[in-house]
Amino acid sequence: MTNIPTPHIWLPYTQMRNALPPLRARKTTGSRIVLDDGRELIDAVSSWWTACHGYNHPHIVAAMERQLRDMPHVMFGGLIHEPAEQLAARLANVLPKGLEHVFFSDSGSVAVEVAMKMAVQFWTNQGDRDRTKFVSFQGGYHGDTLAAMSVCDPEEGMHALFKGYLPEQFVLDLPRDAESADKFREVLRSNRDQIAGIVIEPLVQCAGGMKIHTPETLRLVASAAADANVLLICDEVAVNFCRAGTMFAIEQAGIVPDIACLGKALTGGAIGLAATVATADVFNAFLSDDAQAALMHGPTFMGNPLACAAANASMDLFETEPRLAQVAVIESQLRRELEPLSGVAGVTDIRVKGAIGAIEVDELHSLDWLKTEFVNAGVWLRPFGNVIYTMPPFVITEGELSIITSAIAEILPRWSVRARR
Ligand SMILES: *Cc1c(COP(=O)(O)O)cnc(C)c1O
Repeated sequence: MTNIPTPHIWLPYTQMRNALPPLRARKTTGSRIVLDDGRELIDAVSSWWTACHGYNHPHIVAAMERQLRDMPHVMFGGLIHEPAEQLAARLANVLPKGLEHVFFSDSGSVAVEVAMKMAVQFWTNQGDRDRTKFVSFQGGYHGDTLAAMSVCDPEEGMHALFKGYLPEQFVLDLPRDAESADKFREVLRSNRDQIAGIVIEPLVQCAGGMKIHTPETLRLVASAAADANVLLICDEVAVNFCRAGTMFAIEQAGIVPDIACLGKALTGGAIGLAATVATADVFNAFLSDDAQAALMHGPTFMGNPLACAAANASMDLFETEPRLAQVAVIESQLRRELEPLSGVAGVTDIRVKGAIGAIEVDELHSLDWLKTEFVNAGVWLRPFGNVIYTMPPFVITEGELSIITSAIAEILPRWSVRARR
């Protein structure tokens, strides 16, 4: 028993025995978080990559207030409503053509669970009961629930910790070159009878360390999935809604997966909501005289009207405000201001893609020190693994983004001379 940081709240990914006490947030506005003690921090990570329009956007707040008065929630079994109907149609309209059947849930992890369940049931509904495995990739992250964890990077996903409980999947290297492509195709070829689908984060593996792959790699995965006749699931949860430089990352490869998972920025960061979107081919495999062939899932708060109203308002903003142009401006500013840091001791790589900027270091030591230094510089930035990264709100001003990159430039050299622990 030592310094338990909060008496009753159990914090995420936190060793409760000796963690730094969390800061207390009081309110948010624009790109900023205001703390209880009055300090203001520029949010370099958009609250886990959600607050794409900045915080408290008046258009989203107004839409939620209106919805709150009419109907904050109603069950989705046997009832639908305008906010969900409108949102599903709008998502089908902006997603690449073919993705048109929307299943709502409340978090990205559940959207992935639903996608995996959909894939397995897609095959069982056609009499194929052996396809219960998935192919996924080293460095990937798909959520914290158990099935989602099983397709995460084995180390990052803590597979060893939950061994015996997690289903074993084929977690392969991304096919970036001829050798890894051959290996990938070979595993698909020899195990296709057991494989329900492939799960991939398109273009950027975010939580696994902001690792970028090319549209060619994504196209190769898509064509191999088609050749092997397994389903392709693209987990867009982190990169959807312009984060990687296009409305959806899959657009850059010109592919249409069988299933796409959406989340995080879906409501503009105002409230939890996620979606699993399938093609007609997938959807049609659930149409049957057999009641058991229906998709067997239904979260209690599925299609929550308040969340759908927020998401519809967020979609309005993507239509009326120049988000893609803002992302392009952020991208060039990040390149200009981060790339000069490549010479700092300990820095091994600098990567920028859309509104994502990452500095990879050989080993991320002194983590608590780093976080405190950023807070002292007025910046909310959360390094993890071996990366120091920013994914700012798209409405961040040039001056605010410069405060973030200047803080990185100022702190990084002092960090790199500190003794490693
Ligand atoms: C965050 C994330 C998830 C999980 O979403 P939650 O809302 O935290 O459950 C799944 N996939 C990707 C790619 C993510 O970045």
